[in-house]
Amino acid sequence: MQIPYEEELCALADAVWETPEPGFREYKSSAAHVEFLKKHGFEVKTDVAKTGTGYEASWGSGHPVIAFLGEFDALYGMNQKADCPSYHPEDPDGMGQGCGHHMLGVGAIAAGMAYREMLKENGGSGTVKIFGCPGEESGSGKAYMARDGVFDDCDIALTWHPANFHMVCTGSSQSCIQACFHFHGVSSHAAGAPHLGRSALDAVELMDVGVNYMREHMEDSDRVHYAITNTGGKSPNVVQAEAEVRYLIRSATNPKCKKLYERVVRIAQGAALMTDTKLEVLFDEGLSNTVPNFALEDVIAKAFQTVGVPTYTAEERAYAKQFKDSFSVEDQLSDIPFGIADIMKLRENIKNSEICDYVVETIHTDHCEMGSTDVGDVSWVIPTATVNTACYSYGAGAHSWQWTAQGKSAIAHKGMIFAAKVMAESAKTLLEHPEEIKKAWDEFDKRLDGEKYECLIPKEIEPHVID
Ligand SMILES: [Zn+2]
Repeated sequence: MQIPYEEELCALADAVWETPEPGFREYKSSAAHVEFLKKHGFEVKTDVAKTGTGYEASWGSGHPVIAFLGEFDALYGMNQKADCPSYHPEDPDGMGQGCGHHMLGVGAIAAGMAYREMLKENGGSGTVKIFGCPGEESGSGKAYMARDGVFDDCDIALTWHPANFHMVCTGSSQSCIQACFHFHGVSSHAAGAPHLGRSALDAVELMDVGVNYMREHMEDSDRVHYAITNTGGKSPNVVQAEAEVRYLIRSATNPKCKKLYERVVRIAQGAALMTDTKLEVLFDEGLSNTVPNFALEDVIAKAFQTVGVPTYTAEERAYAKQFKDSFSVEDQLSDIPFGIADIMKLRENIKNSEICDYVVETIHTDHCEMGSTDVGDVSWVIPTATVNTACYSYGAGAHSWQWTAQGKSAIAHKGMIFAAKVMAESAKTLLEHPEEIKKAWDEFDKRLDGEKYECLIPKEIEPHVID
């Protein structure tokens, strides 16, 4: 299979790498995508679900409607010189594509372009949709899009994520809610008139202590993280009138996550009571857990075999080795995802190869991986599945400078094009075998068992930048 305009697509991914932008402010990245899609005959709607930078591109008519989901946002603290195998940020405070989203978005476009050729050849009914989904790292772009019904007329969603392995992504991911807890107190002279002061910083500290005591009484799959975003200033001789802490609360399912969040809110209320301060809760974002779909995973697994793994030149392997060697063997072997059928084979490959060079077989599992993605919200609306392809050397994990560094390399491009081919081949199977779409929907209905998608973001909260 050929990806049309492969060179142009790789150049587009590189261009997005060059202009890393935060969630809901991916102006240049989104504009570059839209320009490319319009130039190639797609009809494009922008500002979908009031996300500003989110878009929906479509071509064709009628069912099946296959959606390819892309992203393009970057990460703070992930700036790194391209191809440099030691930590060398060009701007230490700058952003970088440490999660490979510059490829994620373009890979989805590439898959859509290739699938469109198949649709043309097939000559029958069928629509291809490519979604530019903003703010994955922070912002919950797809959750707003799902809440707004953007995916409602689609039959299947396919997406991918750059990774260290060529494999079907299996299992679930965590639900999460993020919110800021802002305490309002009263300032005073800390020595002269402490009795007149009410410390917001004390409230933050007491809240953190309370939550840390809660940890013993959570489920194993729960996670609670926090960052103090406002300490109330740098002067210890002033009673801090304002202070704020941001919490990220994760659990295996939406109801469990909501309950855990409510417990954290009650601890915050307790801290406000103890310190005689006022609490204000500012909701940031919320993501649903991922609903797995084994039927779709099987379609992707077959597509992996049909397309076949890319081969790597000696030069590419030497390039990858420099990055692999920046990790100990122990670390290289410590980041193996769940659901691998033959762990020994993978361990051998990690030891002997610089980059994953075979399709890693997975088992069907509902296991909930630690971490969250806004793909979860889409998976509550339509059957959804994710392809992973190796775009980086072994060893380096997501959100690392090593990922940013390798983001424009030949191995990265190969991984992106491979993912696009696997997604397009999967879509072709779904087009030619509608019974596979039915199978995916039967499983989807069984898993939801009448439960309806309920976005974790309250209705009154609109898409917004999270700083
Ligand atoms: Zn990512």
